[in-house]
Amino acid sequence: DLSDEPTLRRLDAALRESPHLYRAAPSTSHTDSSRRYYPIYNPSHREDRVGEVALSSHHDIEAALSSAQADRDWPGMPPEQRAEILEKAADRLEAQEYDLIALLVREAGKSYPNALGEIREAVDFLRYYAAQIRCEFDARRYQPLGVVLCISPWNFPLAIFLGQVSAALAAGNTVIAKPAEETPLIAALAVASLHEAGVPANALHLLPGDGEVGAALVADGRVRGVMFTGSSNVAKAISRILHGRLGPNGQPVPFIAETGGQNAMIVDSSALAEQAVTDILTSAFDSAGQRCSALRVLLVQEDCADHVLDMLCGAMRELRIGNPAKLETDIGPVISAEAQANIEDHIDRMRRAGRKIWHTELSPDCAHGHFVPPTLIEIGRVADIGGEVFGPVLHVRRFARAELDGVIDAVNATGYGLTFGVHSRVRSTIERARTRADAGNIYINRNIIGAAVGSQPFGGKGLSGTGPKAGGPLLLRRLTAQCPDYTPP
Ligand code: GLU
Repeated sequence: DLSDEPTLRRLDAALRESPHLYRAAPSTSHTDSSRRYYPIYNPSHREDRVGEVALSSHHDIEAALSSAQADRDWPGMPPEQRAEILEKAADRLEAQEYDLIALLVREAGKSYPNALGEIREAVDFLRYYAAQIRCEFDARRYQPLGVVLCISPWNFPLAIFLGQVSAALAAGNTVIAKPAEETPLIAALAVASLHEAGVPANALHLLPGDGEVGAALVADGRVRGVMFTGSSNVAKAISRILHGRLGPNGQPVPFIAETGGQNAMIVDSSALAEQAVTDILTSAFDSAGQRCSALRVLLVQEDCADHVLDMLCGAMRELRIGNPAKLETDIGPVISAEAQANIEDHIDRMRRAGRKIWHTELSPDCAHGHFVPPTLIEIGRVADIGGEVFGPVLHVRRFARAELDGVIDAVNATGYGLTFGVHSRVRSTIERARTRADAGNIYINRNIIGAAVGSQPFGGKGLSGTGPKAGGPLLLRRLTAQCPDYTPP
């Protein structure tokens, strides 16, 4: 509870005592005295050096792969015992909640509520997959694939990192985890929790590094399954490399990708404007728009557009953008200078194309880091946006009543299909939007982010991903090979 004084005092203390320098290194047993460490800086404060990371060498990659491939302890362990270990890791995360929040704020620029939500989600993933193997996993029927590679993103450096790793481990696989280049420190803490809880060192390896490390791992024939969350382009490249590789029973190597979105929300003239504005605000700007589920295109019926947009601008002016280490901050930084430049380039391109653009002001606090003000851009056609813009930028397309199907089709035509929202009080409009939108997760009269593990399995279609959804009942099976000789009892 962030309005509770003792909680705030503990948070404050955790941030002040947050170790001056965190370290992440390949978790292979060999120690290399020639290792070079690279600094990781706080995205909201360039001078705050959060820690340092040693990138994985070819030697580390080789050592990790052969040890993961040789491990028999983890795949041979009864599912109940694996479940117990994952649950113990969840307990450990909960016990270090304040330290994790401090690192999520400093390394990833998370606001306090986002950091808390992320830890909750990570814990939920661990407990959810543990519960699945405890209750319904017949180990005779489902054999592990072998070594599974998990390549995770910086926008959920704890939740998605652990979501992937815990699913792969739950199914009995050994794991090589390659965290995003930007956020290896929190990944190192997560791996330490799993090792301390009882996952054997040989069954789980952390290999920090850039795209080259990822590419070398994907290309190695010992990798028998890949989980990836990140851009559609990288997913396509991975898919091309894996093409043709076969697993232990001759089956294709599973590739589970969760990628981007061009997510839209319809607001028609029957919608409750105050509620719609609250949900637009959260969907588009929470986490500085750095969620693949975030709202990118607001489709607003022209009869109510001026009213909704006036209210939206008023609400946007109230948002406090700045250092997330301050409790009053609503929206923190984007992850890096490069991310900021990409988003600003897009806004400039749209300005040069004559689009109407409006944004909020940044406080002087923001001069120390990578900040982009929440921005609205009016567009004529959904296709004008180009690709996904991963930041606090919301495109607005007004539509006439007769165009409802057409604008939904235009969103479908982007090829992405992750989240979609509709705000309306007319049953038939809700039904039309729900059935026509080609998206993995559809939300009605609410925001479109923050899918809950277990009750709202998350994942998209087309350019947005392969499925099976994260936090859903089908994922673990995809991470196993069905035993060919199995006959049900
Ligand atoms: N699962 C998150 C959500 O529902 C988004 C995950 C992502 O950004 O990759 O908001």
